[in-house]
Amino acid sequence: MQDMETYKLSSIPLCEPNLNGREKQYMAEAIDSNWLSGGSFLRRFEQQLADYSDAAHVIGVSNGTSALHVALTLAGVEKGDLVLVPDLTFVATANAVKYLGASPVMVDIDASTWLMDLDLLLDFLENQTYQNSGGCFHRDSHRRIKAVVPVHLLGNICEMERLNAIAGRFELAVVEDAACSLGSFRNGRHSGTSGLLGTVSFNSNKIITTAGGGAILTNDDALAKRARHLITQAKSHPTEYIHDELGYNFRLVNPLAAMGCAQMEQLPGFVLKKKEIAAHYRQEFGDYEVMFQQLTPGTDSNHWHSAMLVNESRSLIAALAAENIETRPLWTPIHELPVFQQDLYISRENIAADVSRRGIMLPCSTSISDEQLQRVCQTIGRFLSVSIKI
Ligand SMILES: *Cc1c(COP(=O)(O)O)cnc(C)c1O
Repeated sequence: MQDMETYKLSSIPLCEPNLNGREKQYMAEAIDSNWLSGGSFLRRFEQQLADYSDAAHVIGVSNGTSALHVALTLAGVEKGDLVLVPDLTFVATANAVKYLGASPVMVDIDASTWLMDLDLLLDFLENQTYQNSGGCFHRDSHRRIKAVVPVHLLGNICEMERLNAIAGRFELAVVEDAACSLGSFRNGRHSGTSGLLGTVSFNSNKIITTAGGGAILTNDDALAKRARHLITQAKSHPTEYIHDELGYNFRLVNPLAAMGCAQMEQLPGFVLKKKEIAAHYRQEFGDYEVMFQQLTPGTDSNHWHSAMLVNESRSLIAALAAENIETRPLWTPIHELPVFQQDLYISRENIAADVSRRGIMLPCSTSISDEQLQRVCQTIGRFLSVSIKI
């Protein structure tokens, strides 16, 4: 009886940070060094990320959202512009567009990859825009369409060759939201390094964490230089307080970068574990009426989050919660959120809404044990057998 109760009470979290490397040691060294805002761990962390991703420049920032904010600024997005984003993403992608006084245009997703539907994107650009010497403009509103933000959702990477070709034809800057795809590669290239700029996040639920943090990736020397300038209050004189444009305080601080250095040492292991978890779920439920995200050709996903689509997903979430197993729905489509009601939404069949309604994110901590994973699968298995019989 005692055993039964402990068994029931032990909870399985959705996605816990894993700080079992040299995090404490490096953070203590950072504190002892008395270098807090900047310092050697920040430079080392940026270098580790650059080596891993093969990006020419990596700039550490305060979080993934500020990385997007700065990247969109660098891409030339201005007040009144339109920026294309997928309808299914974390809200930060669309919020960053709004911070600049621009408006997101939500593009529906593909039903199998859950990424921005590039056919739909092309159809919109070919039929609802015009181009002149000032760029690409929306036919109805005459607003400039300045950029497109592909989101490599849950680790699956967009078909960047095709997206870059479309963006080139319509003069759009490409900013990749790679917040959740650190460790994902497609055709040998790391996510976030195929566009003009890429952004990643080290929030505590991401594949590596600095508690809060992010980075901007780019191969463009001038953009990298300007990124560093913008995130340090646009200070243009070494000692005098001269600031030559509107800047931000968006730097990643040294003790958190120290945590990042320790996390980077473990990243390859984390990716392997995430892949194992994803493969386990796919194998376990292959014969059930569920759907998993289909990877684009050439994508080697980090499988940051294992998610599946199932009818009555909310009942399944409740059934798992009753067993102390934490799961979450997929994100609400951006076009359904109050802040974005006035913004344009391009869709044929409202796929994002359907994926969101049926989506469930499954426990996928890199520290999850085989027993825990088995318990999750058994509980889901019971639910699915019952609901299929009915
Ligand atoms: C996590 C995430 C962000 C935001 O990153 P933060 O570090 O939390 O600000 C942006 N976009 C996507 C797709 C994310 O998953």
